[in-house]
Amino acid sequence: MIELPFAESYKIKTVETIRKSSRKEREEWVAAARYNLFNLKSDQVFIDLLTDSGTGAMSNRQWSEMMLGDESYAGASSYYKMKNAIREIIGFEYFLPTHQGRAAENVLFSSLIKEGDIVPGNSHFDTTKGHIEYRKAIPIDCTIDKAFDTTALHPFKGNIDLEKLESVLKKYPRERIPLIVVTVTCNSSGGQPVSMQNLKEVYSLAKRYGILVFFDSARFAENAYFIKLREEGYADKSIREIVKEMFSYADGMTMSSKKDAIVNMGGFIGFRDEQLWKKAQTFNIMFEGFITYGGMSGRDMNALAQGLYEGTEFDYLDTRIRQVAYLGQRITDFGITVQKPYGGHAIFVDAKRFLPQIPKEEFPAQTLAVELYLEGGVRGVEIGALLADRDPVTRENRYPELELLRLTIPRRVYTNNHMNYVAVALANVWEKRDKIKSGMKIISEAPIMRHFTVELTRVNGLK
Ligand SMILES: *Cc1c(COP(=O)(O)O)cnc(C)c1O
Repeated sequence: MIELPFAESYKIKTVETIRKSSRKEREEWVAAARYNLFNLKSDQVFIDLLTDSGTGAMSNRQWSEMMLGDESYAGASSYYKMKNAIREIIGFEYFLPTHQGRAAENVLFSSLIKEGDIVPGNSHFDTTKGHIEYRKAIPIDCTIDKAFDTTALHPFKGNIDLEKLESVLKKYPRERIPLIVVTVTCNSSGGQPVSMQNLKEVYSLAKRYGILVFFDSARFAENAYFIKLREEGYADKSIREIVKEMFSYADGMTMSSKKDAIVNMGGFIGFRDEQLWKKAQTFNIMFEGFITYGGMSGRDMNALAQGLYEGTEFDYLDTRIRQVAYLGQRITDFGITVQKPYGGHAIFVDAKRFLPQIPKEEFPAQTLAVELYLEGGVRGVEIGALLADRDPVTRENRYPELELLRLTIPRRVYTNNHMNYVAVALANVWEKRDKIKSGMKIISEAPIMRHFTVELTRVNGLK
């Protein structure tokens, strides 16, 4: 008897054609895009691993929910469907819909953060950091040191270092720390999970200092999956039980539903406390829309509610996260260093180790992203110095410890044959890595969140 192999927990009903291109075409396109892969047209890309945000495939049930959407301005049934799903799965009584995750941050932070405030957390996501710094407040990264060594094996590299956190809480007065943001899973440190133990300890520390804890929850279900697999005492618990316990250690949450709720657009803020919810309502009405739709169509709220149920099913998560690990293993087999253990939504290639000859001032991860695109039409994304941006005060470039090329896998979209293709394309670049002698330089950039629109050129002047 042979043990039955793993197979995906769904089959495919609708397909979308993708097109290959020639290297010559790609050379022209990427130069015209000023070496910023965000500027490419999607049909210039064969396999798109730019992001897993809003790029997932909805299920037949989600599509059927679209038809049932209630487009009433106020009090739509779709709002209540979403409310019930949030109460049932997350456990929060109060919520505000928003059009996406950063909108949730904008609304919440408008009601909580003022100039000069301190917001500790675990490697804040770029939009989170942007929204904090835009308010002239300061995010402080308290992630454990192990997270910054791509080869160190630690089951929960998203964890907060409690000593670092407590020293921040001691150093600043309570009035200057409006909240702690815990990102689950931690996107910026490689899609790495936070353990239940850590969530619990952060919460009890915060409560001792009288400070709110909000989860940046885009990938909360993937975090729960890792807790089930890696943390003692959780193997026999269901994903939903784990999710409920996770959120019992938070006062609220911001959510980009484009991730674990498997919709193309949407978000929300969840609250335990009625007063905080009320305080944020005004900003929701100003920036997003009335509190029962907040920038979302009724049909989208329906699909989101259904997505919350599907996104917290074990078999779905198992299919997804095994595919990420499959890509990670294929790449590792070629001798390339990636962040380990493999994360929940992406494989992060260590660009400093891949291209040690490229100085950090020449953006090694962006250089690698461009080379991978040229090789196979695969679009990844830089998670390095471009993303880290300039210091808002000194305007100096900030160089993070890690220069990563993120290969982000959309949910339920690509097959493992696509993953093989990506791994081989990267391996071909690896073979030729010594020929890559120099990197990129900036021609123009925006004052904040520059990576989306930055224009680059090759340092050596060649096309
Ligand atoms: C995507 C994301 C956000 C922002 O959400 P958008 O829907 O893209 O606006 C915030 N935090 C984390 C951790 C994310 O992954």
